[in-house]
Amino acid sequence: MENDIALPDCTRLFIGGHWEEPAVAASYTNENPALRKGLCEVAIAGEKDVDRAVKAAHAGLASKEWAGLPAADRGRLLWKVGQIIRERAKELATLESLDTGKLYVEALYGDIENAAGAFEYYGGWSNKITGQVLPVPPRFLDYTRREAVGVVGAIIPWNFPLMMAAMKIAPALAMGNAVILKPAEQTPLTAVVLARILEEVGLPKGILSVLTGFGDTGKAMVAHPGIDNITFTGSTAVGKAIMRGCADTLKRVSLELGGKSPNIVFEDADIKRAVRGVTTGIYYNQGQMCTAGSRVLVHESIHNQFMDAFLAAVKEIETGSPFDKTSRMGSLVSKEQFDRVSSYVELGQKEGATLALGGTPGGSEGYFFRPTVFTDVQPHHRIAQEEIFGPVVATSTFKTEEEVLAVANNVSYGLAAGMWTNDLARAHRMAHALKAGTVWVNTYNAMWRESPFGGYKQSGHGREGGQDGAELYTEVKNICISI
Ligand code: NAP
Ligand code: MG
Repeated sequence: MENDIALPDCTRLFIGGHWEEPAVAASYTNENPALRKGLCEVAIAGEKDVDRAVKAAHAGLASKEWAGLPAADRGRLLWKVGQIIRERAKELATLESLDTGKLYVEALYGDIENAAGAFEYYGGWSNKITGQVLPVPPRFLDYTRREAVGVVGAIIPWNFPLMMAAMKIAPALAMGNAVILKPAEQTPLTAVVLARILEEVGLPKGILSVLTGFGDTGKAMVAHPGIDNITFTGSTAVGKAIMRGCADTLKRVSLELGGKSPNIVFEDADIKRAVRGVTTGIYYNQGQMCTAGSRVLVHESIHNQFMDAFLAAVKEIETGSPFDKTSRMGSLVSKEQFDRVSSYVELGQKEGATLALGGTPGGSEGYFFRPTVFTDVQPHHRIAQEEIFGPVVATSTFKTEEEVLAVANNVSYGLAAGMWTNDLARAHRMAHALKAGTVWVNTYNAMWRESPFGGYKQSGHGREGGQDGAELYTEVKNICISI
């Protein structure tokens, strides 16, 4: 199937409703990481292109086609986008898999399904965000409006390309903004197709631009005074640089950054379920997930029993072609990620942790990496503190609830946390005390677009998903009238 799919033309930029060549001719070769083979040439947008997109966005915002469009009609347009994504799901999943190295089935039932769902869901919010009338003294009428922020710059990573694009574009458009999207350099394909789909449903010109390119393209967006809001998902290091960059023009900024999430197995857990949840919690998407349950903390009384079952489950995971039905893990996204993961495996051994499983390439062709388990990890080890963003888990034991809580919270991140227990009181106690934006009990990575998602501490700022994810792209205006 992967051979029958036509790749989109990525040599042009979608600006102001037209497919334009970059102002300064430049391109790079995008790679299929599972085969280590070039896929296509991709345009690199520069400062002039960012400026063109910003001007087109402002013109679009002022046009009667967008400014005059009733909110419900914006919603209908977004719903249609969701429908087209569903109709083209197999093609989009194939492109996503070719671009990222992830399993085709995971792309189809995860990424693409969720991207369609995001457009449908936020289509529904377009006419449901309201203001308030406030109880001020009676000779005044005082009310609020939630208005679009204006031009939203969306900068996204490569781990869930279409889904990330959808979770930013859909709510921003639902609230009446214009969006300039910068996909990750590794994964431009579905962003370009998405632009075609939004063109097809009749999105007014300028309301979406898609600028492929490198970090410098994102940098130019952050610096441009005509962009009002930056919404970013990616590494904490780049997130910090973006926040600093936004200070110059005081842009609104929301950041979904990294994590080092604990997954805690208590002595009263259903071990079979916990093994399943811990396994997918770390190895889904080759561990390239901001919520990856990369620290597994097991009560000492069940440690041997749990680890025997866990290691047996991990041994079953075959890495292989993303399109092969027997593969349980695909390829890492790039050589850079492969080298990063390899270097952390080396570091873990140097630090004194035990490499219990994996730690080696998972095939000769692409950037495959075997599911890797470290035991005897100490909380201060760098493999227990830093985000690896690959199929590597750091496991250790604990004795008491107080101890595990302290260890769980003692990292700079705070994106998610999981626990496995049948003690209801403990589950609530722990859930309240964990410093994380999302806490899962007897499940892991259960993420819904209806729910707010985001980080404590250095995992980010702001919440995507749900009503919060729509309000993120609004300003509150207060209007007071003397009557
Ligand atoms: P990244 O460097 O943070 O890239 C994310 C996005 O930001 C990409 O579109 C990137 O463009 C762009 N960018 C890079 N530098 C920029 C700058 N100075 N100003 C504005 N935009 C900029 O992430 P990465 O290099 O793809 O991955 C590195 C690490 O980030 C991973 O190993 C992982 O730890 C973390 N990460 C986290 C998430 C998450 O979901 N939280 C996702 C992916 C990665 P280019 O693609 O051209 O660099
Ligand atoms: Mg690629």
